[in-house]
Amino acid sequence: MIIVMKVSATEEQIQAVTGRIEKADCVPNLDRGAERVIVGIRTGRHDLTPDQFENLPGVDHVVRILKPYKLASREFHPDDTVFKVGNVEIGGNKLVVMAGPCGVESEEQIFFTAKAVKASGADILRGGAFKPRTSPYAFQGMGEEGLKLLSAAGREYDMPVVTEVVNPRNLDLVAAYADIIQIGARNMQNFELLKEAAALRKPIFLKRGLAAKIEDLLMSAEYLLAGGCDDVILCERGIRTFETATRNTLDISAVPVLKKLTHLPVVIDPSHASGVRDYIPSLTFASIAVGADGLMIEVHPDPACAHSDGPQSLPFEMFDQLMKDSAKVAAAVGRSI
Ligand code: PEP
Ligand code: MN
Repeated sequence: MIIVMKVSATEEQIQAVTGRIEKADCVPNLDRGAERVIVGIRTGRHDLTPDQFENLPGVDHVVRILKPYKLASREFHPDDTVFKVGNVEIGGNKLVVMAGPCGVESEEQIFFTAKAVKASGADILRGGAFKPRTSPYAFQGMGEEGLKLLSAAGREYDMPVVTEVVNPRNLDLVAAYADIIQIGARNMQNFELLKEAAALRKPIFLKRGLAAKIEDLLMSAEYLLAGGCDDVILCERGIRTFETATRNTLDISAVPVLKKLTHLPVVIDPSHASGVRDYIPSLTFASIAVGADGLMIEVHPDPACAHSDGPQSLPFEMFDQLMKDSAKVAAAVGRSI
């Protein structure tokens, strides 16, 4: 249920509404739009009903949101969510590009990559320090040392950094270095991790699970929003299908579907979606054309020697060309990159 206030509603009238929600031991969620305030309720179980609000002064109308996700729904927040991380705007007309290696491997590797992707126009530096690997024998990431190097490289080249947390135990550590916390596909439904990450009130990059429906992704986003994190970015990174020609199958239709159902920004990761370097340009162009708000792309100074995801990582020249070509596609759909 959301309570839509009149354009003319006063602060006192808004407070009367939030007060009533608090009295029922619920937490109100105020969404101050350009025109009017919409009040939501940040809890699932309560016995508040529309008639308890409909006749309060300043209330325009009350809408029951029938979808299982409320705060994430377009009904609750009709405008696109746009927010800033450092100087980078996310969810606006300009697409946000997050680029960097799959994993931080050394000081040289991350600084070299940061310099190159920045020069090509990337906005945000990515790099894993805790890697969720299928094999326990594969490179697991550099841990705190990797976080330090990533954040230092981000500072040096003036880019916010995004990095994954795989374990609630490491949340505070990751949050100390990351500007955006990544919750990966394998943890999308780790609800305890979602709740604890939300409580940190930092922007969260939430990747769609390997076999998650769009509604599952939105329910996980709802955990974050209900837990107090407003700045959530959704990421389509390919899903498991019967097709094995690519690492995953990029669900390109997830973008228009998500844009219809939610106000949250949607980013596509063609790197994990395809697993194959050569397919990344075309999937990137398709992502821009279909309305994605950004891209996450793996870039490595020497992909053949990468500790993880080398076959899908772009060398610097290829990333640079991709950015140039992407600008044309973005312009064709009235956006910039
Ligand atoms: C990653 O971004 O490096 C990663 C592991 O992604 P995903 O969770 O989508 O597999
Ligand atoms: Mn990777």
